[in-house]
Amino acid sequence: MLDINRGFREICDLSPQCRFADCKHLREPDCAVKTAVDDELISARRYESYKRLISTSRKFADRFRSP
Ligand SMILES: [Zn+2]
Repeated sequence: MLDINRGFREICDLSPQCRFADCKHLREPDCAVKTAVDDELISARRYESYKRLISTSRKFADRFRSP
């Protein structure tokens, strides 16, 4: 997750303003990142690639999760 945040600086910077500390900025309520996308402070295309990265990294995590 840290690598993703490094690549998406503007999303990372907004994380502390989200309601939940572990917010993934996907479906959580009161998400500062989604608000910023709605307000066009973050481009929708950047947000889309962020979401793609999250789902990709989740697939990897499931695959390599230790028993
Ligand atoms: Zn969020």
